[in-house]
Amino acid sequence: MDVIGTSGACIIVGGGLAGLTAALALAPRPVILLTKAPLGIESSSVLAQGGIAASLGPDDDFSLHLADTLKAGDGLCDESAARAILKAAPAAIDELIRRGVPFDRNGEGKLTLGLEAAHSRRRIVHAGGDSSGREIMRPLTRRARETPSITVIEGATARRLLVEDNTVTGVVAESTRGPVVFATERAVIATGGIGGLFQYGTNPAGSWGEGMALAATAGAAMADLEFIQFHPTALDSVSFPLKLISETVRGEGAILIDETGHRFMVGVPGAELAPRDVVARAVWRHMAAGHRVFLDARDVPDLDFPRRFPAITGFCHAAGIDPVTQPIPIRPAAHYHMGGIAVDLAGRTSVEGLWACGEAACTGLHGANRLASNSLLEAAVCGRLVAESIKGTMPRRRGNPRADARALVSANPSAVRKIISRAAGVLRDGDDLAATAAELLPFALAEGEASDPALVGLMIVIAALRRRESRGAHARTDFPCRAAHARSSTLRLNEALAAAREIVPETVA
Ligand SMILES: Cc1cc2nc3c(=O)[nH]c(=O)nc-3n(C[C@H](O)[C@H](O)[C@H](O)COP(=O)(O)OP(=O)(O)OC[C@H]3O[C@@H](n4cnc5c(N)ncnc54)[C@H](O)[C@@H]3O)c2cc1C
Repeated sequence: MDVIGTSGACIIVGGGLAGLTAALALAPRPVILLTKAPLGIESSSVLAQGGIAASLGPDDDFSLHLADTLKAGDGLCDESAARAILKAAPAAIDELIRRGVPFDRNGEGKLTLGLEAAHSRRRIVHAGGDSSGREIMRPLTRRARETPSITVIEGATARRLLVEDNTVTGVVAESTRGPVVFATERAVIATGGIGGLFQYGTNPAGSWGEGMALAATAGAAMADLEFIQFHPTALDSVSFPLKLISETVRGEGAILIDETGHRFMVGVPGAELAPRDVVARAVWRHMAAGHRVFLDARDVPDLDFPRRFPAITGFCHAAGIDPVTQPIPIRPAAHYHMGGIAVDLAGRTSVEGLWACGEAACTGLHGANRLASNSLLEAAVCGRLVAESIKGTMPRRRGNPRADARALVSANPSAVRKIISRAAGVLRDGDDLAATAAELLPFALAEGEASDPALVGLMIVIAALRRRESRGAHARTDFPCRAAHARSSTLRLNEALAAAREIVPETVA
């Protein structure tokens, strides 16, 4: 396998908002940015619709943003991390504007601030209406390509971190030239979320948690892996990822019905406008009882659906549905991972020379549930914090990796998707989780194409099994109440494997 010397360059894995922000903030220090898909084509950042939360309005203050974030996080946020990240939000928006992001403005030229569920103030800056992600990523991608210190390698998938004495020495990647080793003593994981690990998800198919597999196999600690936010209303179609039918459609008055026309949310406090996880659970239960579920906007007075929701109308039409005359089939879909690689506020993991940022990392900002539009914010703020931390760190030694001669097997999560979706979905119970851990273990140990996705799935399942309570987005039917004390969870791969091995004989018996 070729070993490529990087002359002190830092390797950033992932070209979403977090990875690009870190790369740009590191300039003029040399960076090699590896991305599976061409920049700006396949990432959750590009798909983002609503926008970025920041306390910018005259009636707002970061302490109000903090209060809303802590409430959504259901007792599990790291308050000091949340405080630091939210306080940095206005500066992060300024920086994006300086980099050329055309946020939407009103007639007076002031930023238009949108309101989203569970925010007590209007504080969502957006661009291109509901195309915020695309508009944010366009100028950043251009800048990254134009920055001489950033070498972008597209079509390169990081597959392993090389580590000696708990210190990074290199990154093994599959590239268009075949497998290569980048010798480096500093690497950043910015690989995004895990929606692609599930049968129904809103993230790109390639977002299945590969960064977690990289970090975990290198010995890094994970945190709060059990907390996954499911969006209640993804368009139920054969496409992958599923398209989002934004909450705003319910905000305009659309209702949830089943195939008989029954409005099953009546009686649930808040009905269709209840918090995201409450609606997701109600839809999931109704589907588990054998129903199909639809979002019905046909009778909303004065709603010109195609004009108000042009993008949603477009992808409904592409799926053969006319939202003006037909109810839209929907289902919950894995949308956002609150947990991830455990990091401190500087993005440092428990492995020397390894940082993580964006959705792949767990800073503690989101706790047990994410407040809408706090995730792009976290990617922008923490991408910069990681860059600052790297600038201030002297490598302990030169990356001089021993080339890993083992053949690389491309990872493929398709065998794992159905297995994990059954047990680690919206509603969970201990028996299913244990059976799923037993089912995933052979895949995880096999060193085949399903091995890394199974390792990620196994860690999530073990974390979900260990949390014997319901909190935030984690709902256990066998432990429906919150525990008296909120505690974050941490897990390493060897612990997850040991826990799964203990379960296997029980399941077989
Ligand atoms: C449909 C949708 C709508 C959303 N709307 C909003 C919103 O309005 N506001 C908000 O705050 N959040 C929103 N989110 C969440 C938000 O978009 C993400 O949390 C955020 O963009 C994550 O950024 P990231 O840089 O961490 O990861 P991503 O943007 O997902 O980028 C990850 C990158 O890593 C690459 N990669 C992955 N594995 C490897 C590997 N092994 N080797 C090399 N490259 C790799 C991928 O190709 C990709 O380029 C939305 C998410 C979705 C899916």
